[in-house]
Amino acid sequence: MNANIVLPPGLLLVLSAPSGAGKTTLAHRLIKETPESVFSISVTTRRPRGKERDGVDYNFVDVATFQSKIERGEFVEWADVHGHFYGSPQSVVDEARSRKSVAIFDIDVQGGQAIKRKHSDAVTIFVLPPSMDELERRLRARQTDSDETIRRRMLAARSEMERGIASYDYVVVNDDLERAYSELRSVVVAERCRRGRVDVSKLGLGV
Ligand code: 5GP
Repeated sequence: MNANIVLPPGLLLVLSAPSGAGKTTLAHRLIKETPESVFSISVTTRRPRGKERDGVDYNFVDVATFQSKIERGEFVEWADVHGHFYGSPQSVVDEARSRKSVAIFDIDVQGGQAIKRKHSDAVTIFVLPPSMDELERRLRARQTDSDETIRRRMLAARSEMERGIASYDYVVVNDDLERAYSELRSVVVAERCRRGRVDVSKLGLGV
């Protein structure tokens, strides 16, 4: 056993899920109830929807601005999702590292995998709906999408779920919001206690 393992400071937490799994509700509650946590506000070229606010839900930019951010290395990862660009700011990672805080990324599986490749200590959690039928029911209940859009979303969800289940560190099934939240919270608590993440240098043990 290597007792001297030391992980970089801060916790990079990636949450992914197909839309309709309840991920955003879980992410916001986790941020509210986890001291020293920050939500990574992604940059996107898609237009704001409904009540979304610039600088709160996303930073909305045009394609030229997004491209110059890529060139300046401002993203820890970026991706083309359904024809729009989305990117997670490198500054969120840097701040989590320097402040030893928890950064929460609400992004897709390709983004989560990219963060994990760059930061092997990142923790990836995939939120699953209780069943495909229930996911479809939730998507239909929103009454915002056509049958064709729902069919496309269901296909995308299936592929996202297969990739998430195959590659993520943790899987949380959201059949009951309270239980799913308590599982999510337990992962964060456990990960904060991971050997190498806790500073034991001041215990006088000489390790
Ligand atoms: P929406 O446009 O519905 O808000 O998001 C579409 C998809 O893009 C969701 O799966 C969301 O998690 C993902 N997404 C949001 N921000 C980012 C990001 O910065 N990077 C990546 N890779 N995906 C993102």
